[in-house]
Amino acid sequence: MSAPFIESPYAPRRRRTREVAVGEIRLGGSQPIRIQSMTTTDTLDTAGTADQIEQLADAGCEIARVTAPSLREAENLAAIRSELDRRGVRIPLVADIHFTPNAAMIAAEHVEKVRINPGNYADKKKFAVREYTDVQYAEEVERVADRFRPLVRRCKELGRAIRIGTNHGSLSDRIMNRYGDTPRGMVESALEFLDVCEHEGFRDVVFSMKASNTQVAIAAYRLLASSLSDRFIRRDGDIEYDERSYPFHVGVTEAGDGEDGRVKSAIGIGSLLADGIGDTIRVSLTESPIKEVPVARALADQAERLWSCGAVAPSGFDAVFVDDVYTHRRRETLRIETAGPALRGALRGALGGEEPVRVELELGPVPDDPEAAVDSLIAALGRAKDIECEGLLVDSLDPSAADQLKRFVRALESRGVKIPLAIRVEATWIDPCLPLASRLVVMVGALVPDESMAEAAAKVAKARLVLEWELRAPSDEIPALVDRVIAASARSKLETWLISVDADLPIHANRLAVARLRERGVKVPLVLRYRRNADETDEDALLRASVELGAPLCDGLGDAVSMGLQGWDPPERALELGYRILQGARLRTTWTEFISCPSCGRTRFDLEETTARIKARTQHLSGVKIAIMGCIVNGPGEMADADFGYVGSGPGVVNLYVGKECVSRQIPSAEADDRLVDLIRQRGMWKEPD
Ligand code: SF4
Repeated sequence: MSAPFIESPYAPRRRRTREVAVGEIRLGGSQPIRIQSMTTTDTLDTAGTADQIEQLADAGCEIARVTAPSLREAENLAAIRSELDRRGVRIPLVADIHFTPNAAMIAAEHVEKVRINPGNYADKKKFAVREYTDVQYAEEVERVADRFRPLVRRCKELGRAIRIGTNHGSLSDRIMNRYGDTPRGMVESALEFLDVCEHEGFRDVVFSMKASNTQVAIAAYRLLASSLSDRFIRRDGDIEYDERSYPFHVGVTEAGDGEDGRVKSAIGIGSLLADGIGDTIRVSLTESPIKEVPVARALADQAERLWSCGAVAPSGFDAVFVDDVYTHRRRETLRIETAGPALRGALRGALGGEEPVRVELELGPVPDDPEAAVDSLIAALGRAKDIECEGLLVDSLDPSAADQLKRFVRALESRGVKIPLAIRVEATWIDPCLPLASRLVVMVGALVPDESMAEAAAKVAKARLVLEWELRAPSDEIPALVDRVIAASARSKLETWLISVDADLPIHANRLAVARLRERGVKVPLVLRYRRNADETDEDALLRASVELGAPLCDGLGDAVSMGLQGWDPPERALELGYRILQGARLRTTWTEFISCPSCGRTRFDLEETTARIKARTQHLSGVKIAIMGCIVNGPGEMADADFGYVGSGPGVVNLYVGKECVSRQIPSAEADDRLVDLIRQRGMWKEPD
């Protein structure tokens, strides 16, 4: 049996590691999460690169990475370091190395850390299919080790750190042929390099396991954490999680720009941080690197607050919330009609089972002016492009507002709104709402007596509606509450019910609820809720929503996301965010998926502007994946499972790809957008925008 990837998935606790020094900055152990970014300037432009690093440092970046594609750039790192010293900018530098071990040897002389990519340090990536015998495979590993060993020895002498930075998209042919492009392949690829480091007695190692697919990134980091623990157990024969393990640099690669880039980064990075995994983070956006820093800072702050909350897992609780934490699989649930009598049979009125994860809007208390509120809701939904609101939830916690609630429902009906309506109520105040809703959301906590719960369940069962038990309790009390709602539902012969959780630690509480349901053999759907705090900025709210909803979704939990409308201006942003999170977690595709690199010193064109241009023409192609990559050295290897690739191949020219195959070379940039659209047309994936 493998070691678990963290101590417990039911309480936030930081994964323990050794500390590694990167110049004057230490990371891992009890150090704060360190913020990183990467320059996008030409590394031969000493002043320009130093300017950007200085801006990064001013913005709060603690470690700056600079690409060193060839010996000349590696040598110029000395000049950049001198320039920074002259300006009094004290920030550790990392050299980013692909394909050129000789550049790594030079870079190690001038910078505090060297990042190597195991997929291309001394291995090939030509998408070649070849079977290796065990002997041939071992010979190849030894050949790679021979190329890597000198760097390890030199870094040890100079006191430099090394990041073994695996990328899902750039695994070597050798690893791909043995493991496929899997999290296991990513981990094995990294561990081969660790073998060399440990054999040389070198321990200043940091790992990364980046992917543009958030589910893959999460699985790979978890698997690496577990594999490292296994390694120590095998070697030293004990089962302690201790400070011998290595820190992780966490990131999602090619996340893109704007809200999509932030959502995707927050889902991947934030989910791992919520697990306690991550000692230094980089948010990769197709924007100025300066803009990456506040996003990373916000994610780190959220995680550090979570880690320090002191919550503990319920004692003796050993049920599991998923079968396999290293493979995404949506939790098996019952399909439930939620449309109510008027809408029964409408597709969007069902959730769970094979239904897509639904997006609901939570409106808050019944509005004072119900008719005006319904009109402005209809206007907001009309402005939301490409997406539909699939459920509405309104609070009716005040019996004196019963008439207002009726007016609200009548206003919806009279204006032809055919969206299933849920009403949130107390267990003791249910009767007036029964004729009005398709689903009742009944709040339950430790103080609600069993009798009240059973009575509410019996009334909903009799009205043949759906009941959602909203469990309101501290996380560690959730399993006990799950048992009580199971009992109340059974006692009242209520068949169509589901749950949601309103707890202090939503990610962990949802896991606890599902683990208990699994243990009891109950497959009711789960609704994930997000409400923004009054004092949150738009960006903080977007990041927290992405983490709190994205983490369970990537775990395979959640049949609907319910987005609180309050605080969003315009209100349809809440709905859009729900859909963006589903797309970022790869649960439901609404728009084109863009995989665009953050750009670096190798980039051949203005990536931000090009991405915006291509997005404007193609973002309506739901389900199509388009990669926009800065260079042909890494771009084709790292564009993952994109359907089409647009890759800078030289100044002013672009190569176009279909899947992994380059189909047009050296196209002048002025023509490349049209040629890309032609390619999409030829493959039958184009449709005209509305
Ligand atoms: S793909 Fe983009 S970020 Fe990666 S090396 Fe090339 S230009 Fe740099």
